[in-house]
Amino acid sequence: MKISELGEFKLIEMIQAKAGLPSYPVVVGIGDDGAVMDVGPRTEVVTTTDMLIEGVHFKRETIPPYDLGYKSHAVNLSDIAAMGAAPVQSFLSVGLTGDTKLADVEEFVDGFLKAGNGVTLAGGDTVSSPSGWVISVTVMGLSPSGKVLRRNMAKAGENLWICGPVGDSAAGLSILLGDTKAGTPEDSDFLIKRHNRPEPMVRMGRILLETGLSNCAIDISDGLCQDLGHICKGSRVGAVIEVEKLPLSQPLLDLAEDNGKDPLQWALAGGEDYSLLFTVAPEKEDKLAALVEKEELDAVPVGRIVPEAGIRVTRDGETVEREEKQGWDHFASQRS
Ligand code: ADP
Ligand code: MG
Repeated sequence: MKISELGEFKLIEMIQAKAGLPSYPVVVGIGDDGAVMDVGPRTEVVTTTDMLIEGVHFKRETIPPYDLGYKSHAVNLSDIAAMGAAPVQSFLSVGLTGDTKLADVEEFVDGFLKAGNGVTLAGGDTVSSPSGWVISVTVMGLSPSGKVLRRNMAKAGENLWICGPVGDSAAGLSILLGDTKAGTPEDSDFLIKRHNRPEPMVRMGRILLETGLSNCAIDISDGLCQDLGHICKGSRVGAVIEVEKLPLSQPLLDLAEDNGKDPLQWALAGGEDYSLLFTVAPEKEDKLAALVEKEELDAVPVGRIVPEAGIRVTRDGETVEREEKQGWDHFASQRS
């Protein structure tokens, strides 16, 4: 069997089955946004790693080196945010082609450091690549023991919140790929920036962990429905997304209208927004709403967790029919 028939997630399951359960002091292994190690006293280390491959995750013609450095770090910081931890140190490994300009690498590193916002770049590896850049980043963070936000902690009756944009990144990508054209240069720049320089929701994640307002989060890397699917599967619950509540930006709505596209497709299946999706018990929502306002966080309720399996999308209470398969799978033949 070829891995394209199996798909990315079944492949990870195969690796996970071979690896077995983690042994102490590793308390969370494969299967969440980051792994967790108990280092005591009352402290855990959260580690995450992600790769970006030229031609798969980016084209060097459509992303400046500074933005690529920024994004490489941001996508990893986003996984730390999804665990609620505080990022501390990063490792940067790069495979570069021999014709790469020194100035491009300098800009790449500047962008990487900027995204870190004070996180120490503590090591890495530098090698040559025969064709195309390869970027592998690891970020480690700290958290008080026993408090990390998990994918498997959602409970029926909780509400579903999003902190950050939904769909803007996919809309920006469609402009970069020439599939759409924005009405104004400002809208175009706004959406492309959302794609090339996503903001990791580190502050939101830390606030959720420190206040105990949520126990369950994931970052939206592969698409809202797909990543929500990971929460549902891990927590053995289902979910309802109320699309009228999704915080769709005006540039995204305008781009969709001008180009005859469905904005919901970008919002529900687009991916690479690196927003934070989390669950909150109804009795904690007033406190959360007050904090969101005080801290000027971009978080809104968008649905709820239900006991029945599956993800239902509704508009004003009516079910919206959607295609079954949505989101990013690395070995599927195309983005569906
Ligand atoms: P994310 O999108 O949050 O980075 P992924 O979907 O890439 O998460 O990975 C899901 C889980 O599987 C994570 O815990 C990740 O560490 C783990 N994982 C992915 N690939 C491998 C691998 N080759 N070996 C071990 N664990 C892996
Ligand atoms: Mg993640």
